[in-house]
Amino acid sequence: MATKKGLLQRLDEGVVIGDGGFVFALEKRGYVMAGPWTPEAVLENPNAVVGLHREFLRAGSDVMQAFTFYASDDKLNNRGNKSGKKHTCAAINKAACDLARQVANEGDALVAGGLSETPTYLSGLGKKAVQAEFERQVEVFVNNKVDFLIAEYFEYIEEMEWAIEVCLKSGLPVVASMCIGPEGDLAGVSAGECGVRMAQAGAHCVGINCHFDPFVTLRGLKIMKEAIEAKGMKVHYIAQPLAFHTPDTKKQGFIDLPEFPFGLEPRICTRWDMHRYAREAYDLGVRYIGGCCGFEAYHVRAMAEELAEERGKKPEASEKHIPWGGGLKMHTKPWVRARANREYWENLNPASGRPMSASVSTPDQWNVIAGDEAMKQGVLETTQEELASLRIRAKDQLGAHKTTSVTG
Ligand code: ZN
Repeated sequence: MATKKGLLQRLDEGVVIGDGGFVFALEKRGYVMAGPWTPEAVLENPNAVVGLHREFLRAGSDVMQAFTFYASDDKLNNRGNKSGKKHTCAAINKAACDLARQVANEGDALVAGGLSETPTYLSGLGKKAVQAEFERQVEVFVNNKVDFLIAEYFEYIEEMEWAIEVCLKSGLPVVASMCIGPEGDLAGVSAGECGVRMAQAGAHCVGINCHFDPFVTLRGLKIMKEAIEAKGMKVHYIAQPLAFHTPDTKKQGFIDLPEFPFGLEPRICTRWDMHRYAREAYDLGVRYIGGCCGFEAYHVRAMAEELAEERGKKPEASEKHIPWGGGLKMHTKPWVRARANREYWENLNPASGRPMSASVSTPDQWNVIAGDEAMKQGVLETTQEELASLRIRAKDQLGAHKTTSVTG
């Protein structure tokens, strides 16, 4: 088969559509455990992983990200997770690459190997130990000939710089994407400074993934882009946000919302939100436009349809979708046929269906960061005593918020 164009050429020439977040999608389908969020499904239920790759490919994704999120050895054995007893990081990452490559070759998609922040960093064990975790992962990606690397889901720019340094040694294009918003990283480094430091570290494409909704993410990305351009640097930009609305989040993003992770459904973005997101991202100059937790294939299709003209093609899944409600012209009910137009869906303000539903929540904001005692990770299961003291702390924290909101 003809050689595929590489990532950087695609970004230079047009738009790359990413895929969605695998842990959230596969957790809902019953193949991932919420909590550890590790990807042993690539060995235990490979058909489920292949199926999800295929959905995203059909919806227009140009990238199959190997499902390796949180597959470092330290995470597979963290806090009572038994996955590390059954599988090694190397075996998981290899299987993930094989599955992604299999589906990528059914179309014109590229394969990306991903690595993310480590418990080793959160525990404050230092650069050498953290980079050793990354090196083991990158080695598997290189051996399995992925097309490029994504260092994503980093809350601290320092750890991200260590990851970029390891990734660049592979000689592959490196995408770097932090899970931060307009307020910057958890150590207090501004979003602009994070962007500049990722670019200076040598990443080819920089941006933001996860933790915030598409529109908060683009606000953060705008700050990064302006800071990078002010330094006279030139890089590509990536956005892979949540598919949940999070206008009420603080620095820690959706992890801090009381609804995380089992009550987020009322916040899900519609396909029409994704049209707006894809357009605004494109107008901002972002050329790698994808999604993270909460994204399903129809969200990706909406982005690919919004940018169909720029891309010169429509996704295969558009065989079963006419943009802006066009398919409703074939509906039996006349009041539904009346909704077959763009104006209707662009102006819809969807209800939650919950009579007492609030529009926003109060984020937890414990402000516990890397190096703190409570952030030290280990292989032991969380004990009943630890859980009891955490619950007391949660109650105290809630009381503190109430006082703050009354007095301040
Ligand atoms: Zn995510």
